[in-house]
Amino acid sequence: MSFGTTIHACIEYFLKARTPPPLEKLLDYYEKNWLSGGYASAEEEQGYKDYGRQILRQFWETHYPGFHPPAAVEKSFYIDVEGVKVQGFFDRVDKLPSGGLAITDYKTNRELFTTEYLANNLQLTIYQIAAEKTWGLPVERLTLYHLVTNTPCSCPPRGREQVEAAQRLILEVAEKITRGHFPAVENDTCPCDFTEHCPYYRHLYLTAGEVLPKESPAVAIGEVVESYVSLQSRIKELEKQLEETRQTIIEYCEKEGISRIFGTRHEVTYHLVKRTGFDEEEVRRILEPADLWGRVLGFDESLVKKLLADGTVPGHIRRQLEAAERIISSHPYLRVRPRTEEE
Ligand code: SF4
Repeated sequence: MSFGTTIHACIEYFLKARTPPPLEKLLDYYEKNWLSGGYASAEEEQGYKDYGRQILRQFWETHYPGFHPPAAVEKSFYIDVEGVKVQGFFDRVDKLPSGGLAITDYKTNRELFTTEYLANNLQLTIYQIAAEKTWGLPVERLTLYHLVTNTPCSCPPRGREQVEAAQRLILEVAEKITRGHFPAVENDTCPCDFTEHCPYYRHLYLTAGEVLPKESPAVAIGEVVESYVSLQSRIKELEKQLEETRQTIIEYCEKEGISRIFGTRHEVTYHLVKRTGFDEEEVRRILEPADLWGRVLGFDESLVKKLLADGTVPGHIRRQLEAAERIISSHPYLRVRPRTEEE
């Protein structure tokens, strides 16, 4: 985040000038505004710093010659979507010769954006809504500018259906925020700056440093975690041994052609349990002419979930299905992984 913020500040500095600064001045601004926070080591920070200098050099070489000042840079917007206030910033807005607008958002992502990503990017859709509400002009081009490769990845503006879907989403999210329903969802940016409030990380604050005595429940539960993991690994080892022993008995029974073995205190009986099934096409061939095929067709929920993700199904049907989805049962699930150094 520090890296992205520094690069954004430099791009803003370059674009906001009436006449763009020479390269030396841009790099000097970069040095003076470098944010050091968040890097794992001095080496990593230096690596990023060199990388950023290279990005800015490429950007300057492309945009300095024939520089056209944008219509707006780092411009804030504050719009109303059916009573919900939405606030944000445009990185860059240009007025095209046709009279329409082009919106550009600068990104420091490592990988280039795919056509599919661009076509579905919600941020760009919201920019289009905001620009059209702010200036009353049509948006004609949306761009995510990939700074690392100095590539503008552009797409045409969104159609009515996509704009309406984004507006509905804004209303839905606002309504959930009002209800206090915004569960933490782990993603690629975890841990973020709000870990103190996050159910996935809050425990670290309860156990931090000398804040709590050793006998505190927050510390004790951490010890239970270690005992849980150790028991799990012992069970795995025992399961492996159990399976090997089971195989020895099965192989013996099959080789000797016997169905029961006697130990000193126990006996084990060997059964070959057979599971039967049917070939769907063959059954259909038999039942369809007799008008009985419908009797074996059931309701398949996994197919309903597939419909939900199918873009060819009309939007209003998918929304009705989404609204009809219910939690039928829930069960606790514990996922174990080793802690990272950062945590
Ligand atoms: S750390 Fe928690 S609050 Fe932050 S992004 Fe991850 S899940 Fe969300």
